[in-house]
Amino acid sequence: MLGSMQDWPLVVPQILDHAMRFHGEREVVTRSVEGPIVRTTYAQIHSRSRKVAKALTRRGIKLGDRIGTLAWNTGRHLEAWYGIMGIGAICHTINPRLFPEQIAYIVNHAEDRMIFVDLTFVPLLEKIAKQIDVVETYVILTDKAHMPQTSLKNAIAFEDLIGNIDDDFNWVKFDENTAADLCYTSGTTGNPKGVLYSHRSNVLHALAVNGGDCVGAKSTDTLMPVVPMFHANAWATTFACPSVGAKMVMPGAKLDGPSVYELLDTEKVTITAAVPTVWQMLLTHMEANNLKLPYLKKVMIGGSACPPSMIETFEKKYEVEVMHAWGMTEMSPVGTIGSFKSGMEDMPWSEQLKVKSKQGRAMFTVEMKITDDNGKDLPHDGKAFGHLMVRGPAIARAYFKGEGGRHGTDSIVDKDGWFDTGDIATLDPLGFMQITDRAKDVIKSGGEWISSIDVENVAVGCPGVAIAAVIGVAHPKWDERPLLIIVRKPDSKVTKEEVLKYLEGKIAKWWMPDDVAFVNEIPLTATGKIQKVTLREQFKTYKLPTA
Ligand code: ADP
Repeated sequence: MLGSMQDWPLVVPQILDHAMRFHGEREVVTRSVEGPIVRTTYAQIHSRSRKVAKALTRRGIKLGDRIGTLAWNTGRHLEAWYGIMGIGAICHTINPRLFPEQIAYIVNHAEDRMIFVDLTFVPLLEKIAKQIDVVETYVILTDKAHMPQTSLKNAIAFEDLIGNIDDDFNWVKFDENTAADLCYTSGTTGNPKGVLYSHRSNVLHALAVNGGDCVGAKSTDTLMPVVPMFHANAWATTFACPSVGAKMVMPGAKLDGPSVYELLDTEKVTITAAVPTVWQMLLTHMEANNLKLPYLKKVMIGGSACPPSMIETFEKKYEVEVMHAWGMTEMSPVGTIGSFKSGMEDMPWSEQLKVKSKQGRAMFTVEMKITDDNGKDLPHDGKAFGHLMVRGPAIARAYFKGEGGRHGTDSIVDKDGWFDTGDIATLDPLGFMQITDRAKDVIKSGGEWISSIDVENVAVGCPGVAIAAVIGVAHPKWDERPLLIIVRKPDSKVTKEEVLKYLEGKIAKWWMPDDVAFVNEIPLTATGKIQKVTLREQFKTYKLPTA
């Protein structure tokens, strides 16, 4: 027997309709790419998204067509986003930090018919325009006055695209399982693979992210996603915020410490989200200028492991709650978040810090388990570590066009529907998960595994250390031994001996790096992670003093 409730499709336009009806006055504030701070509201964004939808329809864009965006977090990007999805076309967010050849590859792979592009990235597209002939029209996210001279095909200013159009338009009706947006993983090996979110998965994910134990934004909150919309939907904030009427602050192209600080302060931001490298820049700026953040309540940190020293600085020095989160593009992207369970508020800080340094608990809609190399389930005792497997309605079961499927199918999940995250983790009895490594980054020393993340987390707490990376280097006796690679803070002269002394007693003896190498720069991926593949290549022939 079926239930007798209404059939109300879980589609993305419902989110913006709700924001317009009940939070129409709430602001979306942008540091525009042209320079000035621009203020708009959900009502205006709703109206202008409909104009985008109407303009696209007139230009022959239809259900299932892919439209690229190569853009920062801005109000205009949000209008393009909802306009594209509102007609059942697919919004393909392109990560500008990928190599130009990779961008050309994914535009062709996605068969983008149009690209909405920020002024910043016009030169980038001009360089690869010949390789991406599939694109029929380029919409420059600006107005006539700021339109650049460009060789891009059929280039038109966004304001001209919607200029002479009214917003009398009904969103196109389609099934909730229709594809809504497409985001390629940066793919450290092989070509990037496309994750194709559905309307239903986005709506369910937004509801889950809005949960009280998760981001839990309210209509009274002001949320600034520093994490870009091209990095897995700005961690779902682009759906979660309008669904509750939270004000949004969009940082545009400027993600440096002073610019981020200025917006957090002047717009009285209460919740913000980004990868650790962004927060490192902010904290350095605040430290140097003796600044405070009186309005900020919560900071979501994820994308790579948040070092305990950073958690401590935010919580103890600036009184901002850190929500350590973990996820991946394939998971829409949030999987876990580290909010306390009952009783943890009363634990001593040293114990709380241990909990907060873990990657957190699965939110509703995410199932999680760990398995050994043979696929056997491992205990949730906080000690056993294994392959982290996930399942849920906002987790990918295939990549776009069947790329990377298992055993000649397009499926990327096992027979029971589990997706292997490629991460190695522990799960404790209270459900807190801790990543020890990417499977391909673990260091195998004498048949045992050393967690590079654990060693890095401790090393960045050492005074004078700005960035720390640990990789395995070949060793005649132990197969591999850890090498610690460090970027010093400006003006620091910290030595190998000082770093090793600092690590002593904080990590297991046999995890101690066999050597420390100092470099000026550590390469980061397009989503701000340490590029271990490149580091391993760079130090391939490195001779450890112990070898
Ligand atoms: P990419 O395109 O760079 O692969 P993703 O954001 O999808 O981008 O990367 C997901 C991976 O990032 C995870 O599988 C995990 O290895 C890593 N990651 C994300 N959050 C954390 C975290 N809080 N701690 C440690 N690793 C993390």
